[in-house]
Amino acid sequence: MSRTNLRRHEPLSGSSVRTRHRGLERSRHLAPSIRLCTVCDKPGDQQCSACRAIFFCSTRCQKLLGPTHKALCGRDSEAFFFPPLSPADVEALERIKDKPFGAHDPPVTFAQYLMRIAPVCFGRWEIFIPIVTAANSGSSDASRNELRLYAYNHLHVAADQGWTVKQELPWHRFGTVALPTYRACVPEYQGRPHELWRHLSYVLRQELVYATLRCAELGGNATFSKPECVAQQALARRRVEEQVEKAELPRATKTALVCLSRRRSERNDALRRQAESFLR
Ligand SMILES: [Zn+2]
Ligand SMILES: [Zn+2]
Repeated sequence: MSRTNLRRHEPLSGSSVRTRHRGLERSRHLAPSIRLCTVCDKPGDQQCSACRAIFFCSTRCQKLLGPTHKALCGRDSEAFFFPPLSPADVEALERIKDKPFGAHDPPVTFAQYLMRIAPVCFGRWEIFIPIVTAANSGSSDASRNELRLYAYNHLHVAADQGWTVKQELPWHRFGTVALPTYRACVPEYQGRPHELWRHLSYVLRQELVYATLRCAELGGNATFSKPECVAQQALARRRVEEQVEKAELPRATKTALVCLSRRRSERNDALRRQAESFLR
């Protein structure tokens, strides 16, 4: 990489960590073929100033994804990291832990389900909370990721059901997007959870962009209009499929993930049409 090229990719803002990531990650992410904006797919040569792993075309795209990207920023891009739950998340989760989780027969509460599937908690809520709130360490932690995935999913469902205050938070919405993706992979990765998260990393990163755009559409965004968010979601979905295709996943899993992505997009289109006809 020549000095001239590096100068062209000046970060959006100054950062003391500019020089932290060298070698493979930097050279891969600076490859000319992938200098596209992570949000809108337009050519973009403004790098995230902290991790230099993703590009934006403009400050508005950077502002849209910046807050959600923070949990992944500067970390191993081959791994996936859910952010720790905030105090507000924990407070909400305490209130909804006895609400039903998923469609089980007989019904199970979130707390019951968690204790059933997560032996790491030894069946105890007071062990679960420190795990989901602890800061991420340098490496991906499969158990922590799984527990946070369920927690964010439940927080989103709760807001949707009116059990908590309705709000559009990208990581909560992402919980409902990522859970079926994760479950579609589990059968192929029994006993290899770390590998699962690594193989899914780029797919999930792209799903996160999709979830962020959907949140911006539903919750309102100062710089992105609703039609823009809708158009970007179509692009984001296409990029999810591209990442699925590139991922090191079994063929049957890839097919299942593409189906899931299409179904979700169709469901969102139907919800959107419903909302529009209601407003008319
Ligand atoms: Zn952009
Ligand atoms: Zn970053």
